[in-house]
Amino acid sequence: MAYKITDSCLKCGICIDECPEGAIVVDEQVTDFDGLNLYTTRIDPDKCTDCGVCVSHEWWCPAKAIVKA
Ligand code: SF4
Ligand code: SF4
Repeated sequence: MAYKITDSCLKCGICIDECPEGAIVVDEQVTDFDGLNLYTTRIDPDKCTDCGVCVSHEWWCPAKAIVKA
């Protein structure tokens, strides 16, 4: 797997539905004091095809937290 999610992740969850392979999965979902849902995500190496879409379309991730490993 050539891509990873870094600590700059804002936990917004946008990437979960955007990965064409469904490889970005939720490890934990919490609701903060403002009622906002926060998602701890990771890339599942068994599903990720290293397509690179998650880094070529930077608008996916507001924090640009997905990078080439
Ligand atoms: S490289 Fe492709 S398959 Fe892997 S997480 Fe990114 S968009 Fe999904
Ligand atoms: S889109 Fe970016 S900031 Fe939002 S959960 Fe995914 S990796 Fe984190």
